[in-house]
This record gives sequence, structure tokens and C-alpha cells, in this order.
Amino acid sequence: MRTAHSETITLKSNQEFIHLEEEYSAHNYHPLPVVLERGEGIYVWDVEGKRYHDFLSAYSAVNQGHCHPRIVGAMMDQAQRITLTSRAFHNREFAEFSQYITSYFGFDRVLPMNTGAEGVETALKLCRKWAYQVKGIPADQAKILVCGENFHGRTISIVSASTDPDSRNNFGPFTPGFHVIPYNDLAALEEALKDPHVAGMLVEPIQGEAGVNVPDEGFLSGAAALCKSHNVLFIADEIQTGIARTGKLLAIDHENVKADILILGKALSGGAYPVSAVLANDEIMLCIKPGEHGSTFGGNPMACHIAKAALEVVKDEALAENAEKLGKILREGLRNLNHPKIKLVRGKGLLNAIVIDESDGVTAWEICVRMMENGLLAKPTHGNIIRFAPPLVINEEQMKTCIGIIRDSLISLQK
Ligand code: PLP
Repeated sequence: MRTAHSETITLKSNQEFIHLEEEYSAHNYHPLPVVLERGEGIYVWDVEGKRYHDFLSAYSAVNQGHCHPRIVGAMMDQAQRITLTSRAFHNREFAEFSQYITSYFGFDRVLPMNTGAEGVETALKLCRKWAYQVKGIPADQAKILVCGENFHGRTISIVSASTDPDSRNNFGPFTPGFHVIPYNDLAALEEALKDPHVAGMLVEPIQGEAGVNVPDEGFLSGAAALCKSHNVLFIADEIQTGIARTGKLLAIDHENVKADILILGKALSGGAYPVSAVLANDEIMLCIKPGEHGSTFGGNPMACHIAKAALEVVKDEALAENAEKLGKILREGLRNLNHPKIKLVRGKGLLNAIVIDESDGVTAWEICVRMMENGLLAKPTHGNIIRFAPPLVINEEQMKTCIGIIRDSLISLQK
């Protein structure tokens, strides 16, 4: 137990800051041992002045690159005008943003929130309201299908839908109403849809946290069609895959799928501010009435002004096209390394992963630490898988440098 007091400490090294954080913060993450203090484009710098290539992009939130001048400009602009009104009053930024984002993604309406998890919660609540008010499912009987190995966030209801023991252990009791089916399995979906109480299917178009699991071509379009024929809402969680990351504006665009409910977060602000949004058409969105859902910060002027700038950057700088092109160069470059540690290269656009053969005792974590020492930051996900997701503003020359760092790191660890 500590007593409250104020103290100013002057620190310099990565290690000193790490010790401080470990002593005073909850231990709910296991970061790489580097302390960042500045970012620009695809680069970040640590407190000792060392520069790194960012190959994580804050879990795909910084698609537009660190401190993009247009996004930072919008932020500073708005910060001097008004930051928060709450939705007790209207604010002009929210009105303009609503029109902008709905026409950008082709939906009737938007419901703004802050974090990705809140966006998912909103979609689940919206789906349940629709189930009772429109589909006519008996009270409290609605079920939502989710996929094995999903990752949709960390709230109690969302982890109730998870199959990951770390997400669930000792967090029960859980929220009922979810039914888990295997990912990428249309037959299992068809079977589950026989239950007339199914209201929706919540799915990641590519499972990011599970290790960049790319489903077979036809899974997403097949799932959307099956949902439609059973009057079940197809809910796309594009929080990680959306906003140009996979080489299209949305990952479901690869299969020309239109979601009934679309969830966005992360890169919606270019990483400058927590902004998430749920998009749907009238029949679904108007099920929620005043007082039934909301958030003090959702739709605040800062968030709206920043998100509009962040979306403009994606179009004006053709980031989806760049992700598509550079993703191919990355995957080809990694495959051409022909390195025995790389069992598999997979991904779409600039959401990629390598599966590491750890049989010689050298782990994915050790590879990430070596890459860090060599100036590239990436993180293992699910043990032996390393995700590679640089900001989408990366160019060909920078990509070649990064492939070289990955190659040199692997070679230097060879036994
Ligand atoms: N959904 C997906 C697919 C995600 O990848 C994430 C975060 O990684 C979330 C939801 C949760 O977003 P947040 O961490 O902003 O709550």
C-alpha cells in the first residue's frame, strides 16, 4: 500500500521507464522492452533516440502513419474550438461527420462510440433490439453466432463470446446468448442457422488477434448469403481489418459483401484519438430510441473532426491501393527468404503474419526482440505467429529495408 504524495523523477533510459511502469501500473500487457516517445510516418523513436520501423501500427490503428500532419492539424484546430458537448446538445462536427461517414461507407446511419469494444457492444445491443422488434424472436431468446478464436474486445459480454482461456479465466459469470461455431466453416454456419432464435452472426473478415487467419475465398460471401436467407444480421467487425488495411476500404469488399451492421474503430482516427462507429440502415439503426444507448464521449467534436480528416487521408493518399501493392511485395519478399524458421507467410494487403518454426528452441518472442535491436518493431500473437502490419504509408524502398532487417534478424539467430 502506498500513501498519496507528489514526486518528480528525471529518467533517461528505456530500462528506467520500464521499471517505473512495472512498479506503478497493472500488469495486463507484456510489451517488448522499448519505450517510445515520438512517431512520424512509419517510424517511431525510443527515449534514447533510437529509430524503429513500426510493423504493428498500434494493432492497425495508425494506418495513416504516426502524427499525420492533416490529422494532427485537425486535432489542434478542433481542440481550440470545442472538445466535448455530450449528446445532450447537438454539435456541428457530429452532424457533418455523420453525413460524411455514412456516404463514405454507404449506410443510412451511424452510431458513434469511442473504443472498439464499445462499438462491438453497440452492435450486439442493436442486433438484439432488431431481433425482438423486427424479427419477432421471443423476449430474451435471441442468439448471436460468433466464431472460434474470435477477438472482439475485452468487456464482460464480449469475453463471454470468446474461446480464449486468457480472456475468460476467472471473469465469469458470463453473458448468455452467444453460440460459437468454427471459423471458415459454412456447413457449421448452415447448421447453426436452423435455430430460429439466431438474430445475428458477428465475424472478423480476417481474424487478426488469432494470428491473421485468412478464411477461404467464398467464406464471407457465403456466410453473408446464408445469413440473408435466414433473416439473420451479418455483423462485420472491421475494427482491425477495415479502413484500407487489407488492400480494400473494407476486408469484406474483397468478396463484394455488404454487412447489415458494420463496426469500425482503430484507424478511424488514424490512431490520434479513440473513435469507433457502428453503421447500419434505417430498419436496424432506428430500433434504438433516445435514452436506450449512448456514451458521454461518443460523437464528441474532437473525435468527429479528427475522424473526418483521417478518412479523407485514406482516400486522398490512395492507402488501400498502396496496402494492396506493398502487401504483395512484403509477402513475396518474405517467401523468397526461404528461411527454415518461416513455416508460412499469410495475409492480405498489409495485414500479414509469419508462422515460426520454434523446434530449434528459438521462439517468435526472441525473433521480435532481435528485430527490435535491429530497428523493427513487431509482436508475436498467439505464441509462434508474428504479425506484420506497418502503417499503410510505407513505400517500396522502406519495405525492402524492412525485409532486410527481418532476414538479418533470422540469420543472426540461426543455430
Ligand atoms: N475487434 C477487433 C477485431 C479487434 O482487433 C479489436 C482490438 O484489437 C477490438 C475489437 C477491440 O478494440 P479496442 O481495443 O479498441 O476495444
